[in-house]
Amino acid sequence: MYAPVRARCAAMMSDSSLGGMRVRLSARYASDDELVADLLRVAMLLGTGPFTRKNYERLGQYNPSTIHRRLGGWAEAIKRAGLEGGRPDLGHDDTVWMTNIFEVWVARGKQPSYGHMRGSRFSPEGYASRYGSWGKALTKFQAWLDSGEGVVALPPTSEVREGHATGKTPSLRLRWEVLQRDGFTCVTCGRSPATEAGVVLHVDHHRAYSKGGETVIDNLRVLCDRCNLGKSDR
Ligand SMILES: [Zn+2]
Repeated sequence: MYAPVRARCAAMMSDSSLGGMRVRLSARYASDDELVADLLRVAMLLGTGPFTRKNYERLGQYNPSTIHRRLGGWAEAIKRAGLEGGRPDLGHDDTVWMTNIFEVWVARGKQPSYGHMRGSRFSPEGYASRYGSWGKALTKFQAWLDSGEGVVALPPTSEVREGHATGKTPSLRLRWEVLQRDGFTCVTCGRSPATEAGVVLHVDHHRAYSKGGETVIDNLRVLCDRCNLGKSDR
């Protein structure tokens, strides 16, 4: 069975057009729900901006053509994610601003400073003007996570399947707790974006959801993209 090796190579090569900034995940082992969840994640990052295939290509974890193929066309994929309006009805509320901090924090593996927000969806000046200062934005971020507002259940994937007590996709808050517990470091190889540029972290089910594993903190762990792909090969 050589297919996994090919899939891994394809995952690495398809990244070249993005300047090597991001590792494209192979969709071979991703469930349809995971593809839909990633569409929603990108939609949330975009806020009220237009949700286009091009935008997805820029921010998504999977190749748009794979999504197209697996979900029966781009239009069908959009429909499945509940994004038919062309743009998600999420508004420029705190969720979008806070989720952006979350994404930058996870990508860095540590707390972003004012300057680190540059180049992200919202500028540091934007945070300062909306929340008073960058420090106050960070305070709001903590409060937002603590209050449970950060429990962003993504509709189609939060559905609880038969035989399960939890939905498959961990809430943002649960992802946060796992990342904190594991120190933003891959539990298998010890890589972290905090010490090595380009490392992408994932929150992974230790016992697969498809095999009865639940989406609870004790069954979740941090894996880097490399170990997560390697795991799929087994
Ligand atoms: Zn690893």
